[in-house]
Amino acid sequence: MPRRMLIAGNWKMHGLRADLGFFDSLAAPAARSNAEVLICPPATLLAAAAERCAGTDILLGGQDCHTNATGAHTGDVSAPMLKDAGARYVILGHSERRSDHAESSELVCAKADAALAAGLTPIICVGETLEQREAGEAFDVVGAQLSASLPAGAGTEFVIAYEPVWAIGTGLTASAEDVARMHAFIRTRLSKPASTRVIYGGSVKPGNAAELMALDDVDGALVGGASLDIDAFAAIIATAG
Ligand code: PEP
Repeated sequence: MPRRMLIAGNWKMHGLRADLGFFDSLAAPAARSNAEVLICPPATLLAAAAERCAGTDILLGGQDCHTNATGAHTGDVSAPMLKDAGARYVILGHSERRSDHAESSELVCAKADAALAAGLTPIICVGETLEQREAGEAFDVVGAQLSASLPAGAGTEFVIAYEPVWAIGTGLTASAEDVARMHAFIRTRLSKPASTRVIYGGSVKPGNAAELMALDDVDGALVGGASLDIDAFAAIIATAG
């Protein structure tokens, strides 16, 4: 069965209730698309966004979750809470969490297990820094992140997001050739290579999305900055068919 494209917007720490009209504008582009269209707003907006998206093709996700379902963890949000608020997916191991919160791949793996237990599909982010790429270590780094971050259970469904750290929020994009090579490499490391989606993230914009989305092993995009702009995000969705 062909893998269905996934175009996911990561709003990061952006978005107030005043911005919920975005979902009204996104409903038609999402309905026209063959791709799954996902927005991961801040947790504070999930429940209101879910109400706004009821009856549309727009899916919602969280940006992180705790390893535990409940407990004394002030400020954290659990996977069952995200699910309860309307999430279907959760981004895990984003480079900003790996750097801002010193998240290890082992922690990301535990979070992925928690997400799966709650009925969420994890989007597990991997990617090398510029220093690592320039040192020729990109494949070793991504391979090690995959080995330690991926949940092991049989029948688990997850998405991999390849996000070279140096391309996130910088306006720099990996070349189509580099993306193709890394995605092909990632696929060799998957236990279910034919069905697991591997999406690309890193300054995806309307101007570069078509070339990237056309690559064989690219099954969609994780979009940061451009997902805050309805025209840009709709244009990116349109490149996914
Ligand atoms: C991201 O947040 O995962 C991302 C890829 O951001 P941007 O598209 O802004 O580079």
